[in-house]
Amino acid sequence: MNITPQVITRFAPSPTGHLHLGHAYSAKLAYDFARKHSGRFLLRIEDIDQDRCKPEYEQAIYEDLEWVGLTWEMPVRRQSDHMSDYKQALDILDQKGLLFPCFCTRKDIRREIEESGRAAHSSEGPLYPGTCRALTETQRQSQLDSGKPYALRLHMAKALELMGHQTLTWTDLEAGEQTATPETLLGDAVLARKDIPTSYHLSVVVDDHQQNISHVIRGKDLFQATHLHRLLQFLLGYKTPVYLHHDLLTDENGWRYAKRDNSKTLKSMRENGEELSF
Ligand code: GLU
Repeated sequence: MNITPQVITRFAPSPTGHLHLGHAYSAKLAYDFARKHSGRFLLRIEDIDQDRCKPEYEQAIYEDLEWVGLTWEMPVRRQSDHMSDYKQALDILDQKGLLFPCFCTRKDIRREIEESGRAAHSSEGPLYPGTCRALTETQRQSQLDSGKPYALRLHMAKALELMGHQTLTWTDLEAGEQTATPETLLGDAVLARKDIPTSYHLSVVVDDHQQNISHVIRGKDLFQATHLHRLLQFLLGYKTPVYLHHDLLTDENGWRYAKRDNSKTLKSMRENGEELSF
């Protein structure tokens, strides 16, 4: 018997600002894909960064997506309700000896890179130079005892050791078969902070697993992150969804829509009685 698993897609915005046309495009792609395959479409609110997330942005997400013409299953998963799930995943990585606390500030990291004179770079910026990975147990303990804030980083070299000779791959419906090379792209990625037991990378991998997402449809700006997500799936024993990293929508001047600049928001469009062109 050959049972094709059900298609489940999701749109996962962060309520840190108003959605723009690029979001509508991405959400609609995921929604249409699910519809085309008689699948399910989920909405997830990525609100782990409680300092930047605001309830009015979350409310606007629902209104915007309704205006775009989408419907989604209830209840909506909100990451802030699932901190214990992320903590559990983090504990699994910790038990495997794959985490280390890093006390460096951004400034410390920049200085260390300048002094070493050989900054390995990736498309995400300079790679973490490994400062706190090299601390002795006593040094580490004294930093922890001092109550300093810290990030928990993935010990990439140990993770690769666990991988042994296996090759981690994923299917990207647009870019084709991919081989994960997280080491050259992201280094010892931050997976949690002292006060927040997760990061974007960890929570997105846990959520996609727990929600049985079959197809992750998102912008090409997150393509590099998938190298790390694939590794985390391996380390946590999760299945790997199929990915589709779509082109990013640009405005009439060729600029990507982004929350940080004054891209036209969906809210302003619906309030002005404008219509979507896709
Ligand atoms: N929350 C992310 C964002 O708003 C998207 C995460 C994802 O699709 O994996 O950019």
